[in-house]
Amino acid sequence: MAPSELRYDGQTVVVTGAGGGLGREYAIFFGSRGANVVVNDLGSSFKGEGAGSAAADKVVNEIRSAGGKAVANYDSVENGEAIIKTAIDNFGRVDVLINNAGILRDVSFKNMKQADWDLIYKVHVKGAYKCARAAWPYFRKQKYGRLISTASAAGLFGSFGQTNYSAAKLALVGFTETLAKEGLKYNILCNVIAPIAASRMTETVMPPDVLEKLKPEWIVPLVAVLTHKSSTETGSIYEAGGGHMAKLRWERSKGALFKPDDSFTPGAIAAKWKDVVDFSNPDHPDGPADALGLLEAAANLSPSPK
Ligand code: NAD
Repeated sequence: MAPSELRYDGQTVVVTGAGGGLGREYAIFFGSRGANVVVNDLGSSFKGEGAGSAAADKVVNEIRSAGGKAVANYDSVENGEAIIKTAIDNFGRVDVLINNAGILRDVSFKNMKQADWDLIYKVHVKGAYKCARAAWPYFRKQKYGRLISTASAAGLFGSFGQTNYSAAKLALVGFTETLAKEGLKYNILCNVIAPIAASRMTETVMPPDVLEKLKPEWIVPLVAVLTHKSSTETGSIYEAGGGHMAKLRWERSKGALFKPDDSFTPGAIAAKWKDVVDFSNPDHPDGPADALGLLEAAANLSPSPK
């Protein structure tokens, strides 16, 4: 189904950090497609300083002026219960949660202060956890839920000056992959996106001509598809930015097998190193159990010649 046809009538969508940037685009989209929207935003700076109600109020007004239904919530995502309570108190349900709120504290690892590490962890990891934790019982009870968490290329690949942010963003990948497994039988689908878009977060690090090609509204179609009731996709990682969209997955090299006995020495590994790093015939594992067959195959190798 084309995104232009997707609707969310009667559903309640909670978007964290929806007072600006990507979150604002999601909120306006859902508000225009029949959903009740909770527009959460703490109203802080992109470094996490200060707070205020103006950002969330402005988006709520935009949605209402266009005929949509929305309420504001000004809590930090660290207070996930209060955000989900706003959804329940106003609309009686929660169907979709988009963990989008975020800040940056970029600094080289050498110069990073404890506060830079702690605040990034609190907003991105603890915040996503607290919101998901509060929505989860409703999702389970109604046997329906759609959860998006927001990772980043910085977390997937590393990025200079962003150890705190990278660690937090990749944590959300593991968080989402596990929730996808736990939620599956309740029709709770959980995915993670790594967007790239013009916002106050990126305007200081990217030139205007590049930003012009990365409109935040171009991330909306992916989020729309993944959160729609017709979706079956779960536990996946997507990259999106400009007009590009792709799915990412883990890849395991062909690898080498070693009899786990006293022949399994550093020298034995060195001799087979080219197999360890050979990606010409890879696997794409999606669970810890996928490695068990390999462990068994190694154990069953014939004894190494002495
Ligand atoms: P943004 O700064 O425009 O929006 C983030 C919003 O989150 C802001 O309105 C801010 O007030 C709000 N917020 C911050 N801390 C909060 C808290 N504790 N509780 C509630 N709200 C809070 O940035 P954006 O670019 O739209 O980023 C949205 C998400 O996408 C973030 O998680 C970010 O890390 C991620 N991301 C963005 C890009 C990009 O290229 N823009 C790239 C990778 C990841």
